[in-house]
Amino acid sequence: MNVALYPGTFDPVTNGHVDVLDRAASVFDRVVVTVAVNSSKQTMLDADTRLRLIRESCSELLPHRANIEVVRFDGLLAEYGRTRGAVAIIRGLRTLGDFEYEMQMALMNRRLNNQLNTFFLPADERYVHLNSTIIRELARHGADLTGLVPDPVIRELTKNNPTN
Ligand code: ADP
Repeated sequence: MNVALYPGTFDPVTNGHVDVLDRAASVFDRVVVTVAVNSSKQTMLDADTRLRLIRESCSELLPHRANIEVVRFDGLLAEYGRTRGAVAIIRGLRTLGDFEYEMQMALMNRRLNNQLNTFFLPADERYVHLNSTIIRELARHGADLTGLVPDPVIRELTKNNPTN
């Protein structure tokens, strides 16, 4: 069974992430979404909420993909990959700016675990300019997030907004 890891912060999950996940799950037997719970990044949403939103988004948007698993993750991805017998890391590529950092990470992960190859999937043209930082900024100002993030995320981000 070919297992792939899809690591990220997912603060929050966006339609760009879901699109990458859908394509990865069509190729690999199992895709494990590893949600960073203790990275150096300060997050808007706590880990439980980020995990729940990915799971709810998958149930709504990818009900046909029974091979997706979502886990909390803290540690070295290369080591976790070893425990899962994973052969791949999935990363989405949007711009040239992503590439330099992603290349460094890919080489380091393979050095730490030579069974683990990184597979880059190009972002869908609809989501190429989309990232979680932009979503957090839009949400803060009450902007319409339709078409950018899954409905569970819209519900979560607008639930404390008095204009809704
Ligand atoms: P990280 O902190 O690891 O960058 P993110 O949650 O920001 O975590 O992103 C996780 C992965 O999803 C990364 O590979 C990132 O390039 C990819 N990604 C983020 N946004 C998009 C998008 N709009 N389209 C395709 N891939 C994306």
